[in-house]
Amino acid sequence: MPYGEYAQCPCCKKTAYDKDEIEKEFGYRNVGDGRHIPQSYCRKCRSAGCEAGKPCKVK
Ligand SMILES: [Zn+2]
Repeated sequence: MPYGEYAQCPCCKKTAYDKDEIEKEFGYRNVGDGRHIPQSYCRKCRSAGCEAGKPCKVK
């Protein structure tokens, strides 16, 4: 996934295609060296407590 271009949630498959949408739907995290990359899971999946390998809890 090219960071900063788009983000796709591996759980619910939600995709965001620009910075504003990524910020809104995924949020960024600081990786510690000055870069911010999109969260891999969208906000909804993270708040729903979705985990890799388990069914998505977001409807
Ligand atoms: Zn999701």
